[in-house]
Amino acid sequence: MLKMQNQFEIWFLTGSQSLYGEEVLSQVASQSQSVVQSMNDADDISIKIIWKPVLTNPEDIKKICIEATSNPNCIGVITWMHTFSPAKMWIAGLSALQVPLLHFHTQVNAELPWESLDMDFMNLNQAAHGDREHGHIQARLNSPRKVIAGHVSDPKVTSRIGNWIRAAIGWNEAQNLKLARFGDNMRYVAVTDGDKTSAQITLGISVEAYGINELCAAVDRVLEDSITALVAEYEELFSVSTELKKGGAKHDSLRYQAALEIALEKFLIDGGFTAFTTNFEDLGTLKQLPGLAVQRLMAKGYGFGGEGDWKTSALLRIIKSMTEGLPGGSSFMEDYTYHFGPGEPKVLGAHMLEVCPTITDQKPKCEIHPLGIGGKDDPVRLVFNATPSHGCVVGLMDLGGRFRIISNDIEVVKPDRDLKKLPVASAVWKPKPSLSTSAESWIYGGGSHHTVLSTSLDVETLNDFANIYNIEHLHISEKTNTQSFQDQIKWNGIYFKLLSTSQ
Ligand code: MN
Repeated sequence: MLKMQNQFEIWFLTGSQSLYGEEVLSQVASQSQSVVQSMNDADDISIKIIWKPVLTNPEDIKKICIEATSNPNCIGVITWMHTFSPAKMWIAGLSALQVPLLHFHTQVNAELPWESLDMDFMNLNQAAHGDREHGHIQARLNSPRKVIAGHVSDPKVTSRIGNWIRAAIGWNEAQNLKLARFGDNMRYVAVTDGDKTSAQITLGISVEAYGINELCAAVDRVLEDSITALVAEYEELFSVSTELKKGGAKHDSLRYQAALEIALEKFLIDGGFTAFTTNFEDLGTLKQLPGLAVQRLMAKGYGFGGEGDWKTSALLRIIKSMTEGLPGGSSFMEDYTYHFGPGEPKVLGAHMLEVCPTITDQKPKCEIHPLGIGGKDDPVRLVFNATPSHGCVVGLMDLGGRFRIISNDIEVVKPDRDLKKLPVASAVWKPKPSLSTSAESWIYGGGSHHTVLSTSLDVETLNDFANIYNIEHLHISEKTNTQSFQDQIKWNGIYFKLLSTSQ
């Protein structure tokens, strides 16, 4: 199982100035330590916040920003101007900072001590204007940043900080993400293609191709004993159909997917890859399209995209990293077919085989059925329905020169009737605000047909992630109407055009 490394840290930088004297600065230090303590005690905050000594001069500010940037464990910085920290002192530091930045606009006391309020208290608790000075220089520097205002005792505040931290985890994941593509993209398909060098420059992801023959050879090398052990694990975890069980007519097909899983996982571990793609048009001597094997690897945390779709694969891995430990799950998905009525319109999402079982709480059925596409033996796959939940679908597109993320809030629902003859895993959802507005907006936005469906991801985290990179995020929600969505696309187009010419 791929796990978030728990050595990651967020550094907490408190700004002040030497004007106030040692006594006040030691109060500033102890009060900012107590804010950090409260953050570390909050359930929503998934990694450790490290308090750093109070900053009072440009040299120390620049030094800590360079340290934060170069320390591989530090994946983000939170700033708070407890008192007044003249912001020209921060220019060199903020300019050198290359990790995600959250400006937490807060103060140590929630309530004003109305009766005892005196000038000493006023001089100690100046964030209300100190942070505005700080915000001004961040605006002047155009620093990509998140601003959160509120008191640390408010669960909404710590939840939002937690969402931003998860975006920083996604940013760090992308910086280190290596993706293996077996073969190229599906021939003639536009949206799954893109500029891999731009993706690395913009997002950090490294996308590298391998011949399918390397995987075919690795499958042939898998030992029979390892296959037997993995098949036993399948029988515990899934309702395996009789024909696939030992002694069944198709048992060897199940063993073949087990060999595929073992070979694929070893290839990914050996190469340090956390995401991959396959393409049914390029399977070499593989006997089956990887189905069960891919579903299992997605459940272990790997990103995957079908038909060579490396952008959706990388996005899935990033979303899995950002949502680790949260309820629900995330899967590769495709808008497959519609229910326009009767009743409320819905989307049925699925793929040829490759849907991740983290989006269901059912015990998946493990079955074998024919697949017309690919021209190979019948592939073994897991079959289930996604569990009803709030969720979203997310697409990542290369527009030629820049990237765009589109997301849509959805409600995963029970299918209206049993899908008795559907031989693949699927999800049925109601897109917000309606199927027509959602689909029209998505299509105006050039959104992909492949997506990541997540029942774990908070859209604020996705938005924070896009803002860290200053890439476009179009969000289709309960409030969306098609006309203003089209306008937003036009205005954003001008903004990003101007941004690219100013570089
Ligand atoms: Mn597809």
